[in-house]
Amino acid sequence: MKNTRPTPVRVGIMERRRPELVSILPIRHLSLAERLWRSAKRSLIVMGSLLLVGNAALILFPAPHIHLCLFPIACVLGPIIAIMSWQDRVLFPQVELPCPRCQKSVTIPEGIGGWPARFNCDSCAAMVELNEA
Ligand SMILES: [Zn+2]
Repeated sequence: MKNTRPTPVRVGIMERRRPELVSILPIRHLSLAERLWRSAKRSLIVMGSLLLVGNAALILFPAPHIHLCLFPIACVLGPIIAIMSWQDRVLFPQVELPCPRCQKSVTIPEGIGGWPARFNCDSCAAMVELNEA
């Protein structure tokens, strides 16, 4: 993948200030065009599926207010998701790293981006946090 370069990352857990370890991960740094495309795509998917659900609900149940409610929700949620995705400057690879708490290996979930990145350890349920080193 282009723009992927080894980047030092501080791996820690949220609840306690334990010494964090620094790992070098092949992180993808998103370009301006990629960030724009990613946020547009995400917001369109969310808005589209909400409107689809709204229209399907309109056909299945004779209750137009479901459609009327989902339409403004889609209009509000779409731009929010677009802004949130826009703020992600990096994309993390699906690599395994040792959990800072239980030392078992955890895989970074797919599609995680932006600093700090947080996800749960499968073994001890600790919130693993990745920060820019
Ligand atoms: Zn763990």
